Amino acid sequence: MFKKILIANRGEIALRIQRACREMGIKSVVVYSEADREAKYVKLADEAVCIGPAPSGQSYLHMPAIISTAEVTDAEAIHPGYGFLSENADFAERVEKSGFVFIGPTPEAIRIMGDKVSAKQAMIKSGVPCVPGSEGALPDDPKEIIRIARSIGYPVIIKAAGGGGGRGMRVVHTEAALIHAVQTTRTEAGAAFGNPSVYMEKFLETPRHVEIQILADGQRGAVWLGERDCSMQRRHQKVIEEAPAPGIPRRAIEKIGDRCTAACLKIGYRGAGTFEFLYENGEFYFIEMNTRVQVEHPVTELVTGIDIVQMQIRIAAGEKLPFNQRAIQLKGHAIECRVNAEHPYTFVPSPGRITMWHSPGGPGVRVDSHAYTNYTVPPNYDSMIGKIIVYGDTREQALARMRTALSETVVEGIHTNIPLHRELMIDAGFCAGGTSIHYLEHWLSQRKK
Ligand code: ADP
Repeated sequence: MFKKILIANRGEIALRIQRACREMGIKSVVVYSEADREAKYVKLADEAVCIGPAPSGQSYLHMPAIISTAEVTDAEAIHPGYGFLSENADFAERVEKSGFVFIGPTPEAIRIMGDKVSAKQAMIKSGVPCVPGSEGALPDDPKEIIRIARSIGYPVIIKAAGGGGGRGMRVVHTEAALIHAVQTTRTEAGAAFGNPSVYMEKFLETPRHVEIQILADGQRGAVWLGERDCSMQRRHQKVIEEAPAPGIPRRAIEKIGDRCTAACLKIGYRGAGTFEFLYENGEFYFIEMNTRVQVEHPVTELVTGIDIVQMQIRIAAGEKLPFNQRAIQLKGHAIECRVNAEHPYTFVPSPGRITMWHSPGGPGVRVDSHAYTNYTVPPNYDSMIGKIIVYGDTREQALARMRTALSETVVEGIHTNIPLHRELMIDAGFCAGGTSIHYLEHWLSQRKK
């Protein structure tokens, strides 16, 4: 096992990885930007190194600074967390070329899955069902694009091959709007992701977002750890996640789960990963794979009892999976609310000093957050400042515990979306379970009236 790991991330996930290392008796080094100097996990770290100013381009995305920090601190492996460099194949390659272990998949796997067009092609080959769409990237010829859209049937969605974070997508309802939409998405994708290539999919009208967590050791061991329902989204970004997905027959989940592990074995995948699907009328359609730990991993940890971050580290150290599929038991229900520093209804970011922070507690309550009283949320990064996760024997108990947890939570000095979560936890539609990906946006638009 490694003696020392460098954590190339910030915020709650840096703290989460630090905790995993502590439990395993591994020393950890955190890198931080000038804006994160006061973060608690920086102060609590075995070693902490400032790698640059606040803008991520000069700190958390600055590969030479991170790799040279690993060199001077004698770290053996680098955990990239999520976001930042976690799905950057060039980074994974540079880490390995510099003699460190990248805690994640091989650069090749990241590269294939990072391009949504090649990811879909790999899935089709591995027998994973995909959303009907263009066979690859869209050609330049407008006539050909129109022909493809007609064969798929409107509405269609134009998506950037290199897209992520809910950006680089455009829904098209009519042929008249098609070519302009393709051009605009291409231009935006080129500017935002450095890759102007786009593809087309059928736009599903009322799907749910259901994803399968997998772990693979790259040595013929692969398991799926149940599913997560992440349908509560705003602007294609997840707000609430839960496991299991309410109302989906277990047989259907088992079937798709087995397809995912078969695909992992086929492509020789190593590490933790998530297959994201849209689920509509009893069918699963693959949309993308994330080759890293996800924000919502705790709900899976609570229903399986498996520490996903520790497993990532063990796999990277060359260990085989210590269990097979039959040993994975799903039990109870878990729900996660993402706590964002933003106005609950206008969604305007609300960085600044937290004058009072009080975390909830009690049975089945877990809080993953780096925030504390007097912590200043920097304006430079994502607005998520933590996650409240609850576990219950049933979904009803989990909902009740989340309501109590949210009622105990106090955050003063900045706006957060906690009032929104409080409302959603008593909303009849959400409580019934099985809402579609459009539910929250629709709910918000009704609420304003
Ligand atoms: P990203 O990598 O930016 O997260 P995804 O491909 O995972 O992009 O899609 C994000 C979200 O966009 C999905 O959870 C879903 O809400 C919506 N979406 C993507 N593809 C489709 C589709 N074909 N039909 C309907 N909604 C879609």
